[in-house]
Parts: sequence; C-alpha cells; structure tokens
Amino acid sequence: MDINKLILPRIRNLQPYSSARSEAIDNEAICMDANENPFVASGRYPDPNQTQLRTAIADFYRLPMEQIMAGNGSDEIIDLLLRAFADVETSTVVIPQPTYGMYEVLAKLQNLDVQRVLLEKDFQLNADAVLDATRGATGIIFLCSPNNPSGNVFQVREVEKVLRNFKGIVVLDQAYVEFSDSPAWRNRINEFPNLVVLQTFSKAWGLASARVGLVFANPLVINALLRMKLPYNVNTSSQQAAIAMLQKSAQVRCWVESLKYERERLVERLAQLPIVERVYPSDANFLLVKFIDANETYDFLKKRGIIVRNRSTDVLCENMLRISIGTVAQNNLLIAVLESFNQAPVGNSSAVQLLNKIV
Ligand SMILES: *Cc1c(COP(=O)(O)O)cnc(C)c1O
Repeated sequence: MDINKLILPRIRNLQPYSSARSEAIDNEAICMDANENPFVASGRYPDPNQTQLRTAIADFYRLPMEQIMAGNGSDEIIDLLLRAFADVETSTVVIPQPTYGMYEVLAKLQNLDVQRVLLEKDFQLNADAVLDATRGATGIIFLCSPNNPSGNVFQVREVEKVLRNFKGIVVLDQAYVEFSDSPAWRNRINEFPNLVVLQTFSKAWGLASARVGLVFANPLVINALLRMKLPYNVNTSSQQAAIAMLQKSAQVRCWVESLKYERERLVERLAQLPIVERVYPSDANFLLVKFIDANETYDFLKKRGIIVRNRSTDVLCENMLRISIGTVAQNNLLIAVLESFNQAPVGNSSAVQLLNKIV
C-alpha cells in the first residue's frame, strides 16, 4: 500500500510554515531568531519537533522516534488525521457504534461522510460489517479498543481483517491500553502501513490537565502530521510533564494495578445489587453497567454528589451508565449509596461529606 497516495494532495504538496524555532538548538546556542523575551526561561517557544519528548517516548516503548508524534490531546490528532486522509468528495469515515463521540463530531465539522456501523450485541467488532460500510471508498475507519463506553477489547483477528482489507487509514484508539492485558497495537506499525495507533497521557498517566496525546504510525504518516500541525501544539510545561511522568512509570503502574483491582471488586459488588441488571467486563478504568432504570439511578447518584456518565441514549446502551473507577473510598461510597437505593433515604449527607468521614 502506498501511504503517500493516501495523504490528500493538498497536504502532500503543502509547504509547511517554517518556524524560527524549528532549527535544532543546543543548549549553548544564543537564540536571537524568534523575537522572544531573552530574560526568562518561559520566554522561549516550545520545541516544534518535540525532540526531547519524542525521544523519551521512543526510549520508553523501544520504538523509533520517526513513528511517534505528540498532540494537544489525542483529540487534536484525530482532527489532524481527518484533515490529512479524508476528503469531502471521495472519502468515507466509518465509525462502529457505540464509541467515543469525538470521531463523529470532528468528522462532521469537516463535512465528511460518516458511516455508522453497529457493534455486535456484546460490543464486539464485526470486520465484515465495517468493511461493507466503506462501500469501496477509502478514508478512515475508527476503531477504539478497549472501546469507550463498553470497555472491551476487540478481537485481534477482526482488527487484522480490517487492516488487511481496507485500502485506507485504520485508526486504533488505545486510550485505555494500560488497563488491558492484551498486546499493544503500537508494536505492529511495521506490519501494517495503514495502522495509526492513538494513546494518551490523559487516563492512566494522570495528565489529563496537560493535554498530551500520542500517535504511533508509519513514518510517512508521522511526517505528514508534523508538517500539518500548529508549530507549538504541545506547550513546554506539558512536554516536560509527560517526560517527568515517563520517569515515574513505577508510580503509574501502581495506579493502574490499584484501579484494575478496584475494577474487579466493583464488578462483583455491583453485580450483587438488585437494581443492577448487568455489569460488562472491562479492560479499561471504567465499567459499563446496565441498571433497571438508568435515568432514575443517575439522578439518585447525582443528588448525593456522585456524577457518572449516562450512556442510556447511545445505541445498544439502553439503561446503561458508565462509571469511572475511583479511589477505594470513592468506590466504597458509590456502593454504599447504590445499596441505599430503595431503602431509607441517606438523610442530608452528600457523598462528599460521607467521603470525608471515611477517609
Ligand atoms: C478520553 C479519551 C480520549 C481523549 O484523549 P485526550 O488525549 O485527552 O484528548 C481519546 N479517545 C478515547 C477513546 C477516550 O476515551
């Protein structure tokens, strides 16, 4: 597959803005090229090539830096990918449902043709259904695994089938890969030239506030994205925060282990509640839970100061709430509040007041 042919001509032929700071600078250099304030460190523009951050990620994952770029959250990368590989006239964007909402919002913002395909009843991917929906056109297929909001990992066999048979870009969003035991797709970039993997520092890595998303892809894809992106898309403190987190990966592993343990504990506790119909198995840091009445449960929790995500209007998600795994105390409180449903009201205590008692 010729990846260069998939890149829209206007992007392929784009003469990118050459920022003053795109020259590699060593620490000794005197920078008089970018009209910056010379007195303070904060006066300097961020490195548009993200060299330090990309090198740190390359070292951490043992992958070549040429396969890696950072974005202002993975949301920015989704937007860039749509602009690089999907054309209003000729391309299609296929999005299995239910899934993360930003793919469709960003595709529609660009007036692209969006084809929704239903996942199977257990939220598994049906490769043939996805391929059929492309109707022979190229463009982008968005696969989210572990999937948000269902939490499951797609079967490798089905994903491979999509990758092999689609002559366009397949985005595999692995925002929750750290919580899953199945192998990461970022290690298979060499095998599939059309595979584009997304990860983020927003979930397991505890840096949602910093907005750092990652894309792993064929160097030709990365090169196109580097030429398209705003030169200073990831600010210096965010780049540094991500590098610092990579050095604290032991801490991150502890967080992940704790959340996985709590996830399984919550699965068991929630399943015992009379108001719960089903708890879906999850490879992520959240659970999709089917209640007898999701709206009523949502309101009940909200009145007591616990906010969860009401997914009950999504396809295949009738009466379902998505619940992020919290700290031990928060999870205990969630269980306690849900257990009090249909029993005597919990009085005037809000969840936060109760939490303060527990901690
Ligand atoms: C949370 C989430 C993201 C958002 O990532 P950012 O890096 O914070 O933009 C992307 N994809 C999925 C599936 C998510 O759930």
